[in-house]
Amino acid sequence: MTRYDCVLFDADGTLLDYEAGEARALARALAAIGIEPGPAHLAAYREINARVWERFERREISQREIGRERFGELLARFGIRGDPEALGERYLEFLGEEAKLIDGAREALQALRGRVKLALVTNGLGAVQRARLARSGLDSLLDAVVISGELPMAKPDPRIFVLALERAGGVPPHRAIMVGDNLASDVLGAIQAGLASCWFNPRGEANPFPFSPTYEIRSLAKLPGIVGV
Ligand SMILES: [Mg+2]
Repeated sequence: MTRYDCVLFDADGTLLDYEAGEARALARALAAIGIEPGPAHLAAYREINARVWERFERREISQREIGRERFGELLARFGIRGDPEALGERYLEFLGEEAKLIDGAREALQALRGRVKLALVTNGLGAVQRARLARSGLDSLLDAVVISGELPMAKPDPRIFVLALERAGGVPPHRAIMVGDNLASDVLGAIQAGLASCWFNPRGEANPFPFSPTYEIRSLAKLPGIVGV
């Protein structure tokens, strides 16, 4: 018998290589408005984006405002004249085409598939995430996909984990484990929803929080052993 009946996965930084896709999509979006993209643009974008997402997670701005806010600030910082909303839309279009997998992601899902239910719980925009899941081929390996952008809640809200378990066939929280690279959204949310948690920590970073995951792994290859398949 497996230790769990369902494995929930985060997408970005866990199954999908978000950083590579983000860099390429930003470079293409800037090039499309005649700007030669460089490392300074990417560094500034990442810093701005992290702040804008935190504001979104605190519900200070709406999902629709994310694009305008982050690209408005980016354009202003580099003194570029342009329409932040149009640039944001272009960026999302390119981002939807980015679907590089994290090392071992497909192998881990294939090892687990058929033995336990597999679901994805991601904070992001519905159209972008669905496009990336289809392009990566991950969608055909998953029993359920839950995207915050299509819902009135996001991780770490425990309700989004409960919804994923319902969609995966009604698995009780204590029989499920959440795997993700973000302690504040994936691990904390799982703890609050009554699931086990597995922190995917490929760079071996320190945990600055007062809570701990049930497991910590540096490679997705460790996952089948934890689940017991
Ligand atoms: Mg993540």
